[in-house]
Amino acid sequence: MGRRIGVLSVQGAFIEHEKRLQRLGAECVELRKHEDAMKSFDGLVLPGGESSVQGKLLRELEMFEPLKRQIEEGMPVMGTCAGLILLAAEINNDTRRHFQTLPRTVRRNAYGRQRESFCATGSFGDFTDIPMKFIRAPYIEEVGEGTEILSVVRGNIVAVRYKKQLAMSFHPELCPDDRIHEYFLKM
Ligand code: GLN
Repeated sequence: MGRRIGVLSVQGAFIEHEKRLQRLGAECVELRKHEDAMKSFDGLVLPGGESSVQGKLLRELEMFEPLKRQIEEGMPVMGTCAGLILLAAEINNDTRRHFQTLPRTVRRNAYGRQRESFCATGSFGDFTDIPMKFIRAPYIEEVGEGTEILSVVRGNIVAVRYKKQLAMSFHPELCPDDRIHEYFLKM
């Protein structure tokens, strides 16, 4: 598709996103330092990992402000798992806040201990039977106005879209299905 996608590459599962996006024809730019975040992209990926570590590194590496600005200006962004937490306006059980561009509230590590990690299958917007891998995942407790709920699994909201921000609790890059990445590239 010839898109140029910036992939936050400071921590977490970024390589898996890159492989998937490249296979779908996109070019990936790894974002590791301030200058990288000043480049222009067609989209941005915030991978899974540890949101607290990613948030700290984003600030230390001076990527936080330029990326926040680009998201606010409407650059399409896909946040998976920790990436969802980075985007959320409110985090129910954490004092930290990060980009705060996505209304409204998530809960970190929302699934109890014995279900910290699990696989499920669910629908995502018009897509059915999407495989989903949850790893110490958050879920979305409350959505703001203008937010489309794309996926509910076991009674919890696990994927939403707000304007050009696509965010989900699970890891599509670790599942053998391209449809979510294709959907993002079309955004
Ligand atoms: N538990 C992590 C956090 O709070 C998210 C886990 C993940 O990205 N797989 O940031």
